[in-house]
Parts: sequence; C-alpha cells; structure tokens
Amino acid sequence: MEVYRIQDRRREMRHIGLIGGTFDPIHYGHLVIAEEVRATLHLDEMVFIPAGHPPHKPGRNVTPAIHRLTMVQLAIASNPYFRVSRIEIDRPTPSYTVETLRILRQQWGTNIALYFVIGWDSLEDFHTWYEPTGILEHINHLVAVRRPGYVEEPAYNQLLEERLPGIMQRLLVIPAPQLEISATELRQRVAEERPIKYQTPEIVEQYIQEHALYQDKTKDARK
Ligand code: ATP
Repeated sequence: MEVYRIQDRRREMRHIGLIGGTFDPIHYGHLVIAEEVRATLHLDEMVFIPAGHPPHKPGRNVTPAIHRLTMVQLAIASNPYFRVSRIEIDRPTPSYTVETLRILRQQWGTNIALYFVIGWDSLEDFHTWYEPTGILEHINHLVAVRRPGYVEEPAYNQLLEERLPGIMQRLLVIPAPQLEISATELRQRVAEERPIKYQTPEIVEQYIQEHALYQDKTKDARK
C-alpha cells in the first residue's frame, strides 16, 4: 500500500493528532506510533484519549479510568507535544468515537485539522465501529500504522473501500517502528510475575507495582 504524505497544507490551521485507546496500560507501542505520526506529519500536538467505558471490550474488566488516565499522564509527561484528554473518561455513557469527535469539533471549531491515529488491527475492523462514516466525516485524515502480526492482504485498498466507501480518500498510512507489545500481553505478564521492563516507561511500571494492578489471575487478563 502506498504511503501518503501531506504536501501542501495551510499552516494557519492547527494540525492535531488524536489517539484513542483503552491504555490498560499504556506502553511503548502506543508512544512510538504517536511520536512517529506526529513528527512525520508535523502535527502541532498529539492528544491521547483514554476510553471511559470501551464499547468494544465487553466481557473484560477494564481497569478503573483513573489508573489508566494517570498512567497515560505519567508516560507522556516528558513529551511537550503530547497531552491527554479526559473527554471520554468524564462521560457516563459508552465512549463512541463518533460522539467524541463531534464534541471535539464543536469545542475546537473547523479551523483545526484532525488526524485520527489507529493501529493496523483497528483499521481491519474499523468498518464495524459505531457509525464509521460519521467518524470519517468529522476527521481530516485517518492515520493507520502497521502493527506486528497484522498482514496486509493483496488488493487491501480495494477491500477497505468496499467495506467502507470513502475511506481511501481519508486514509494515510505512516511507517513507524513496529514494536510487538500489547496491553493484553503486559497484563498477562504482570499476573504471571514476568517482567514488563523495557515495554513501558519505568514510571508506568512503578505505578503498576504501587497500585498492585493486573495481579489478579482470576480476572481475565488475556482479553
Ligand atoms: P489490548 O491488548 O488491551 O487490546 P492494545 O495494546 O491493543 O490493548 P489499545 O489501548 O487497545 O492497546 O490500543 C490503542 C491504539 O493503539 C489502537 O489503535 C491499537 O491498534 C494501537 N496499538 C496498540 N499497540 C500497538 C503497537 N504495538 N503497535 C502499533 N499500534 C498499536
């Protein structure tokens, strides 16, 4: 698949990246793609949006939002381009992306270009998200980053467009270092008392220890 680059763009606009996720916990896979996309597209900032009540993770006990939010805050503190939004955490209803984007557009106005960042696994099931066409309407670009273990099928562009007409017009694929790290694996490792060092910032690792997160093997850490 072709890698798209933005050439002419109006600098009077602010260009903001958004990366949503459960961040349970945040890890270097998230941080690396966020920074690579920000730098490649010269974005003014990258906003992490932890999900409050993730609609796509039924059956798993997601860690209380305050812990996930704090871990994001700790992990991004050293990057002046990164910030975190509580928008989904403060909403009592399920965190549908389309609703988040609608609210952000209302708050920030139209003189802002929004780049919504997702990993390859999320691109594959993007057409099954709640109101995917509505999501595309609210953003300027959907930015996909490859993720280890997710193979691109032949004629992938065509397949994506068939599933969701209009997606190719908005899609940017950005190369980034591929780190085979997942939050599921980190939770499992903590539960099994295996190391997570070098997979997430040390400060997040310390937070997990101090708050005894992910230690209960009876909770389903695998999902
Ligand atoms: P879980 O294992 O609990 O499903 P996760 O590690 O996939 O979690 P999420 O919070 O669900 O993390 O991911 C937020 C976004 O970051 C998603 O778009 C996901 O595709 C992307 N992402 C997560 N880990 C990586 C990685 N190692 N490389 C590239 N993208 C990633």
